[in-house]
Amino acid sequence: MKTALFPGSFDPFTLGHMDILRSALTMFDKVIVAVGYNSAKSGFFTPDLRVQIIRDAIAGMDNVEVCSYRGLTIDFCREKGAACIVRGLRTTTDFEMESVIAQANRKMAPDIQSIFIPSGHEYSFISSTVVRDVLNNGGSAKCFLPKNVDIDKYLQLREEM
Ligand code: ADP
Repeated sequence: MKTALFPGSFDPFTLGHMDILRSALTMFDKVIVAVGYNSAKSGFFTPDLRVQIIRDAIAGMDNVEVCSYRGLTIDFCREKGAACIVRGLRTTTDFEMESVIAQANRKMAPDIQSIFIPSGHEYSFISSTVVRDVLNNGGSAKCFLPKNVDIDKYLQLREEM
């Protein structure tokens, strides 16, 4: 079974992430969407809420697992039996950053491959940063988010914490 890990902050998961996930599912038997976090960076949504948002987003999709992890992505790949790390590329800036990370990972773990999937042109401008800016300013970010995600519910849960 070919399993890939799709790691990221996903704060929150957007239509751009969904596009990469759908592409990855055409190449792998299973894709694990993994929310990576460290306790030093608090983020907009907590890791638990990010995981819940992704679970809503992928409702009805097969062969996807959602979880969170701490520590090195390569270590989590080994724990999960994933031989491949999937990352999305929007711009050349993404590529420059991603290739450095991929090379470091390859040095540490030559058995784990990184693959980059270019974003669809209709999603290339979407980022979690833009979504957070819109939400922080009371705007509607629905056009950037998967349709199953009720973001108002998560904003409410966030307020209650
Ligand atoms: P990170 O902080 O690890 O970069 P992100 O949640 O910002 O986490 O992104 C996770 C992955 O999804 C990264 O590979 C990023 O380049 C990719 N990505 C984010 N937004 C898009 C998009 N609109 N189209 C394609 N890939 C995207």
